Amino acid sequence: MSTPAIQVSDLHKYFGEHEVLKGIDFHVNQSQVVCVIGPSGSGKSTLLRCVNRLEEPTSGKIFVEGIDITDPEVDLDAVRSRIGMVFQQFNLFPHMNVLDNLCVAQRRVKKRSKSEAVEIARQTLEKVGMADRENTYPAHLSGGQQQRVAIARALSMNPDMMLFDEPTSALDPELVGDVLAVMRDLASEGMTMMVVTHEMGFAREVGDNLVFMDDGVILEEGDPRQVLGDPQHERTKLFLSKVL
Ligand code: ADP
Ligand code: MG
Repeated sequence: MSTPAIQVSDLHKYFGEHEVLKGIDFHVNQSQVVCVIGPSGSGKSTLLRCVNRLEEPTSGKIFVEGIDITDPEVDLDAVRSRIGMVFQQFNLFPHMNVLDNLCVAQRRVKKRSKSEAVEIARQTLEKVGMADRENTYPAHLSGGQQQRVAIARALSMNPDMMLFDEPTSALDPELVGDVLAVMRDLASEGMTMMVVTHEMGFAREVGDNLVFMDDGVILEEGDPRQVLGDPQHERTKLFLSKVL
């Protein structure tokens, strides 16, 4: 058995008095796609943000490729450089064209030369179907195109795994498919992925595992077809009846 890509044990997170994560245990194996669903406010984003330490866990352990990232001595930059993150809002730099958006972090964090960064940027833009837009500024792209550029930007850092927090929730419905197609390709190439999403079709077809969160706990998890087709908890049934 190889080391899990992500291993979370007894994770608790408080914001002040408010306990937002109440003892989370789960793991993601290498090349697995885990989808996370659940009502608004259930702690999905907080969980994802704890995994790359954008949030500080209150207690519990998180291992990324076997490294305890809750250890105060850990090199957070090194850990984060293995984890790509894509948000609902694309967060591209508005004053830079697509190519420069993809090169900044490569140059600053990976210390790549300009020509190397550009070469890698072009390869990843090709992957997400945006190769012909490298000189375009974000404002001139659709939301779906911006999100594909944001995915390319994360990929150009050569992460070992990708975290997606509702990557299609801000998109007009007709633009969702192109972004999901890129994510589907990534999954089929063996990228380890943790995806918070309301796209149940994607979860069913691409997910190896589906996690249902409610009020800071994982209420149930398992094969997506099983969880979606035959949910065990009333809360899961209620949630699915609203989104399916
Ligand atoms: P989800 O992504 O499932 O909608 P979140 O993880 O964003 O849920 O939020 C879970 C709970 O934590 C919510 O009640 C939210 O208001 C609270 N919360 C999230 N971030 C913060 C923060 N930085 N400070 C205080 N409360 C927060
Ligand atoms: Mg959220």
